[in-house]
Amino acid sequence: MPISIALDGPSGAGKSTIAKAVAERIGAMYLDTGAMYRTVGLHMVRRGVSLADTAAVVAELPSVRVRVAYEDGRQQMYLGEENVSEAIRAHEISAAASAVSAIPAVRRALVPVQREIAGGVDIIVDGRDIGTVVLPDASVKIFLTADPAVRAQRRRDQLIEKNGAENVLPLEKILEDIIQRDYNDTHREDSPLKKAEDAVEIDTTAMDIETCTAKIV
Ligand code: C5P
Repeated sequence: MPISIALDGPSGAGKSTIAKAVAERIGAMYLDTGAMYRTVGLHMVRRGVSLADTAAVVAELPSVRVRVAYEDGRQQMYLGEENVSEAIRAHEISAAASAVSAIPAVRRALVPVQREIAGGVDIIVDGRDIGTVVLPDASVKIFLTADPAVRAQRRRDQLIEKNGAENVLPLEKILEDIIQRDYNDTHREDSPLKKAEDAVEIDTTAMDIETCTAKIV
């Protein structure tokens, strides 16, 4: 039987960094489902669709061509023919992803694709609803948490590394956004972020990446 690991938790808990490290260690694939919601969000932003207008987002949905590809073992996101793996990391796309992810039609479109990718292979999948909805029979379920202030600091460090300190929002603004996204993700009706009953919770507030990775492995 292939091994599937469901890794859920709020923004900035370290899911993607840890998932990549675990995948490498055990020779499994890695699927970042947030990237799929981000790609849908990017499409809507580019088309000027109001994210508050659910009907407009749903109407636009059939023209969104999201594709997940693996190149040299690394996940790449395509919107039509364009590789948008970098573009979806822009700060405003986080909020767009959070908004579109609350729309049931968006989830209904993406969840089957996630299940298909995860089928029959050793894989670690990160998201918000993996242990509860996408892979309820996952071999291992982890719920990763950390203090919001620590998550904001980590997110800021990541952004600085990528874009340089002068191009990064102040910590308070990043923290505000994280708290808003936590609220949206835990309060939406469809597939809210919550710990599956059989998930193991790991608090990474005072834990480094290596310790957490080793624990999951
Ligand atoms: O993980 P990441 O921060 O890239 O996810 C972007 C947004 O996509 C999250 O804020 C969340 O609202 C949404 N998401 C989701 N379900 C998932 C993965 C992400 O609703 N499985």
